[in-house]
Amino acid sequence: HQKKRFGQHWLVNKKILEKIKEIAVLNENDFILEIGPGKGALTSKLLNSEIKKLHAIELDKDLINLLNDKFNNNDKFSLQQGDILSVNLDSINKKITKVIANIPYNITGPILDIFIGRLGIIRKYNYEKIIFLMQKDVVDRILSKEGSPNAGALSIRMQLLSKIKRICDVPPSSFSPPPKVFSSLVVFEPIKNDLRLDISLEKYIDKLLRISFNSRRKMLRNTLNTILSNEEINELSESSKVCFNLRPQDISIDQWIKLAENCIKIKK
Ligand code: SAM
Repeated sequence: HQKKRFGQHWLVNKKILEKIKEIAVLNENDFILEIGPGKGALTSKLLNSEIKKLHAIELDKDLINLLNDKFNNNDKFSLQQGDILSVNLDSINKKITKVIANIPYNITGPILDIFIGRLGIIRKYNYEKIIFLMQKDVVDRILSKEGSPNAGALSIRMQLLSKIKRICDVPPSSFSPPPKVFSSLVVFEPIKNDLRLDISLEKYIDKLLRISFNSRRKMLRNTLNTILSNEEINELSESSKVCFNLRPQDISIDQWIKLAENCIKIKK
């Protein structure tokens, strides 16, 4: 039983299963959301810990009976058949303390949008930790710093919204069937709204990222001129200490924040 279109690769490496449990540092107040429990390898590990609750959401209808048979006698466990990209999490979002998953790789982007969030949109959760086993090259991209060809709107957004730590890389042989690519185990610690940046500043950073990364080979002066006059560009370059002859992948996170702050001031 395995469906490619659902990104089904069962985690069979016992050391990695143990590692996930270890880095989750679970306690009796933990309310866990598990995305895609599959046949329950990780679920079983997590239910075997001091937790308050584990709610799992699985898309594949054919796995629901199997999961219920396995875990229904455990009153910490609840299961919902549905698509993680469209289920409404409003009623449990505030209770969830940790999100843990070996995610289906084909929906990595939208999963990050939902669980880490978007710039300028209020995050309605209190997750302490998000632990994902995910595609290694996406993690490489997310962790890249200015100057790297991989730096982009995704890495800047992820690093602005969370603290990110790669625990280890995981080879295809840890899964059955093995995926074509390497994976990485990652922990995200989301930064609460307004703790680092306010929402209007986030919105402005988002706007600058969109405009500039839309043409990542162009110098900032030749993309941001759609919203700034030449005088404003010179003023901003001076006040933010950012050279507008640079390309967007060469700008650091702190510089993006400075740019957006000063842009807002100039436009007032
Ligand atoms: N947790 C299991 C494990 O580690 O062995 C399975 C991991 S497998 C990589 C991904 C799981 O997510 C599969 O069980 C798949 O059916 C499920 N899945 C795929 N798309 C989903 C979606 N949109 N919403 C919820 N679950 C989904």
